[in-house]
Amino acid sequence: MTNTQGNSYFAHPTAIVESESIGEGTKIWHFAHVRRDSKIGRGCNIGKSVYIDIGAVVGDNVKIQNFVSVYKGVVIEDDVFVGPSATFTNDLYPRAFIWDEEHVSPTRICRGASIGANATIVCGITVGEYAMIGAGSVVAEDVPAYALILGNPGRQKGWVCRCGHRLKVVLHDDSSNTLYKCSSCGMDVQIAKKA
Ligand SMILES: [Zn+2]
Repeated sequence: MTNTQGNSYFAHPTAIVESESIGEGTKIWHFAHVRRDSKIGRGCNIGKSVYIDIGAVVGDNVKIQNFVSVYKGVVIEDDVFVGPSATFTNDLYPRAFIWDEEHVSPTRICRGASIGANATIVCGITVGEYAMIGAGSVVAEDVPAYALILGNPGRQKGWVCRCGHRLKVVLHDDSSNTLYKCSSCGMDVQIAKKA
């Protein structure tokens, strides 16, 4: 189908798409629900039963696997992978009897990051570029770029390359940076140390 912006995308007949902001070439699969005023970029894959809330933002070339809900306040940048049944939240003080639509704690998943199956991303944090969140991890604090986070509570267990493999080979190390070489793809990755 083609939307009012002239972009052609695929939506399975069982999907409910209320947003006009769907990018060229995006595919939206069975029983997904994309609410009004949400935004999905180009070349995305939105899996079965995915829910994209009002105001949620999804960049280009993002893969969202089955049964993920992306709530208002969540921004997912380009090239992010969200594994099946991963969970986002948007309310740090959830009470059934106190509810304010406007009170959401924003969450940002930066370019190229991956979130493993069934991981929980507690709202109000930023997951840095190319970070890797292991399956089932519970993450409630900001994650540095290229960090590998595992467990509950999520703890940093190392660094990963853009290709997703763990960085182990140190080429250079000084007080401000460590330079790694990826033994899988050969890329050099510089990791800044905290001040
Ligand atoms: Zn690599």
